Amino acid sequence: MDGWGSDGDDSALVASVRARLASGDLPGAGLTVAAGPGTHHPCIVCLMPITPSQIEYEVSDNAGAVVTSHFRCYLLWRAETRRRDRGE
Ligand SMILES: [Zn+2]
Repeated sequence: MDGWGSDGDDSALVASVRARLASGDLPGAGLTVAAGPGTHHPCIVCLMPITPSQIEYEVSDNAGAVVTSHFRCYLLWRAETRRRDRGE
């Protein structure tokens, strides 16, 4: 399992992502480069390692680097990046 809660329990992570986007600790989510099984890299969103039983997304950030995140974390991160970019 993904280890950070069940459906509907994302509010703490959402708040963390929002705060880190606002402070610049977390870059904005860019385009997906690749997806596949996890290779124990830490997820940039929730900071937990991505295990081989989970889907790892390689994502280009707005600074030109490539970072890794869980599939589900990526969706949340992308949504929060768009919210920020709309000025909400
Ligand atoms: Zn994650």
